[in-house]
Amino acid sequence: SKFKDGLEKTRDSFAEKMNELAARYRTVDEDFFEELEELLISADVGVNTVMELIEELRTEVKRQNVKTPQDVLPVISEKLTAKLDYSGEDNALNMNDEGMTVLLFVGVNGVGKTTTIGKIAQRFKSEGKNVVLAAGDTFRAGAIEQLAAWGEDVGVNVVKQEEGSDPAAVMYDAIQSARSKNADVLLCDTAGRLQNKVNLMKELEKVKRVIDREIPLAPHEVLLVLDATTGQNAMTQAKTFKEATEVSGIVLTKLDGTAKGGIVLAIRNELGIPVKFVGLGESVDDLQPFDAEQFTYGLFR
Ligand code: GDP
Repeated sequence: SKFKDGLEKTRDSFAEKMNELAARYRTVDEDFFEELEELLISADVGVNTVMELIEELRTEVKRQNVKTPQDVLPVISEKLTAKLDYSGEDNALNMNDEGMTVLLFVGVNGVGKTTTIGKIAQRFKSEGKNVVLAAGDTFRAGAIEQLAAWGEDVGVNVVKQEEGSDPAAVMYDAIQSARSKNADVLLCDTAGRLQNKVNLMKELEKVKRVIDREIPLAPHEVLLVLDATTGQNAMTQAKTFKEATEVSGIVLTKLDGTAKGGIVLAIRNELGIPVKFVGLGESVDDLQPFDAEQFTYGLFR
């Protein structure tokens, strides 16, 4: 599956070390747990999540009377899945049944935000939906052209203004244009101005206000795009965005480019925000809805 291929780097390092660790110990003792803890932390799972996991494992090992490290492995896999698993509902995008769905994408430059918008546009289009893109990143040089190029590739309309123009005005235009085209989905890019949290907050608030005034209850999702290869940096970005605006879901890109796929657990568990999509490669269908079971499966097989 896509998950299996995309998680190859993490699996190569994680599963191998895990097996090597299990082979070195004859009993499940304190030293074993300690090494396991280090291993999980080195896979970017996140200290708090690792602590929780280890505690759960200790309890489970006692309860099931697990004797050998080899037999702990399936328990680890089970616990990891449980930590990532939440009702399938959360995982799906919140769509507007009454009309046009508006999805707002936030995140800093280079994380794969434009690519993600392009890939999601393609996904909706292949489902027969009418899609419009809004080039709301008027700040970064080249962002508008890049989104326009994706629009051309996918074959959807892109609403844009000049670089430096007011993003809220772009959103207003985009909504009018999407309405006149009877669009089902409007995907909105925004500028990731992390250097100045007050500006970021103000800009996102203004953009959201304009959208909500035109379409009550919109945007239907605020999706934060994070780059898995940046590890703890991604966590820091997430915390800043969470303070600046209400984030409803995460898109974690470039999981194929890191050996530290454990970051998914840290993000899900420590931020309390569902991971809705993961990027497992560069091609269009490598952006996949997140699936906890497939993810854990991909880590161990
Ligand atoms: P933006 O600045 O956030 O809009 O970032 P871009 O969309 O321009 O993406 C930056 C780079 O990351 C591009 O070269 C993308 O092809 C690449 N990229 C995005 N998502 C993924 C992914 O899931 N896997 C890999 N390997 N590359 C990705």
